[in-house]
Amino acid sequence: MTHDDVVLKAQEIAGRVLTPSAGQNDKAGRFSTEAVESLGESGLLGLMLATDFGGLALGPRSFAAVVAALAEADASVAMVYIMHILGAATISAARPGAAQAVTPMLREIAAGRHLSTLAFSEAGSRSHFWAPVSRAHRNGNGNGVRISAKKSWVTSAGHAQSYVVSSLAPEGAGPTDSTLYVVSAKTPGLSVAGPWDGLGLRANASAPIALEECDVASHFQLTEDGAGFPAMLNVVLPLFSLGSAAVALGLCRAAVAGTVSHLKSAKFEHLGQSLGESLPTLRAQLAEMQIDTDGLSARIDDLVDHLEKPRETTMLRVLEAKAAAGEVAISVTSAAMRVCGGAAFSKHLGIERLFRDAHAGAVMAPTGDVLREFIGKSLLGIPLF
Ligand SMILES: Cc1cc2nc3c(=O)[nH]c(=O)nc-3n(C[C@H](O)[C@H](O)[C@H](O)COP(=O)(O)OP(=O)(O)OC[C@H]3O[C@@H](n4cnc5c(N)ncnc54)[C@H](O)[C@@H]3O)c2cc1C
Repeated sequence: MTHDDVVLKAQEIAGRVLTPSAGQNDKAGRFSTEAVESLGESGLLGLMLATDFGGLALGPRSFAAVVAALAEADASVAMVYIMHILGAATISAARPGAAQAVTPMLREIAAGRHLSTLAFSEAGSRSHFWAPVSRAHRNGNGNGVRISAKKSWVTSAGHAQSYVVSSLAPEGAGPTDSTLYVVSAKTPGLSVAGPWDGLGLRANASAPIALEECDVASHFQLTEDGAGFPAMLNVVLPLFSLGSAAVALGLCRAAVAGTVSHLKSAKFEHLGQSLGESLPTLRAQLAEMQIDTDGLSARIDDLVDHLEKPRETTMLRVLEAKAAAGEVAISVTSAAMRVCGGAAFSKHLGIERLFRDAHAGAVMAPTGDVLREFIGKSLLGIPLF
C-alpha cells in the first residue's frame, strides 16, 4: 500500500468504525476492540514495519497522516494506535541477540493480530519516565531477568498482547541506566492494577499495570544493558512527538468542523440569521481556530521533513512539536467551547469530548513543562540530565 492508500484506509475506518461509536465509548470509558480489529485487518498495525515481516515499510509522513485521520474521529483510538506503533518500532529495533526471538511477534503485528504498547511511566518517578525506579534482577537460571514494577499509566492496558517495559539495568549505576524488554501480556505476575476513568481519552484504557516478579528471558531484552535511555530518545521520542502533534491536529480539525457546522445550523429565529451570519465575533474566533490549526499542520510537515532528512535542528523540532501541539489543541478546542456556547457546554455537539481529550497531550510525558525546560536548557548549552 502507498501513502495515499493508507490515508484513505484510515479515513474509511474512521468514518465506518470510529465516528459512530466515539461518543458512546467516551461516555462508557470503553476500549474499542472493533477499531483495533479494523486497523489490524487493514494492515495499518504494521505501518512502519519492514516488508520482511509483512509490514508496509512506510515512514513518519504516513504515520502522521493516519494518526490525524483517526484522531479527527476518535482521539482515544488514535492514542492506542500511536502507542502500538511506538511499541512495534522499539521491538523491531531490538538488539541482535533478540532479533530472532521477536521475529514471530513482528509478523503477528504486521498480520494485524498483535497490539503492543509502552509501559514506561512509574508511580515512583511519575512523568520522569527516563528514570525508572524499578530495577531488573538477574534471575537464578542465568537466562534473563526478574522484574517487579508499578507502571502508573499504560495505554491499552489489558488489551495489548505485549508491553515494552523499562526498568533499571541489573548493574545500572545511574538513574537513566535503564533497559527495555518486551513482556508478553500472558507473563505470570503481570496484571492490570486499577481502573481507567480519565477526564479525556476515556476510551483508551490507560490503566496502571503491575509486574510482580515477572520472568523475562534474555532474548526478549530489546536493548543492551543500560541502553534503554538512548532507545527512548532516538526510537520512541521522535515518533511520539510526531504522533502527539498529529492527534492534536485531528482534534483541532474536528473542533473547527464542529464549530462550522454549529455556526451554520444554529439560528437566531428572531433575527432570521444563523449564528455565523449574525455575529462577527464568532467568525473572528473561528478564523483564529483555523489559523492555529493550519499552523500546527505546517509544523507537523516541518517535523516530518526533519525526520526524513535528519539534521542538527531535528531534536529541537521534536521537542518543539509536542510542546506546541499540546497548547494549540487546548486553545483551539477551548475556543470551540466558547464559540458554540451552551450547546457545547451541555454536550449536545460532542465538542466537549474534543476539549477533554485535548488536555491529555500536555500532561503525557515528556510533559509540555518538561519540554520547555529541555528546549530552554539546550538553547543555553546546559546539560538536559
Ligand atoms: C491518557 C494518558 C495515557 C498515558 N499513557 C501512557 C503510556 O502508554 N505509557 C506510559 O509509560 N505512560 C503513559 N502515561 C503517563 C504520562 O506519560 C505521564 O507519565 C503522566 O501523565 C504524568 O503524570 P504525573 O501526575 O505523574 O505528573 P508529575 O510528574 O507529577 O507532574 C506534575 C506537574 O509537574 C510538571 N513537571 C514535572 N517535572 C517537571 C520538570 N522537570 N520541569 C518542569 N515541570 C515539571 C509536569 O509538567 C506537571 O505539570 C499516560 C498518561 C495519560 C494521562
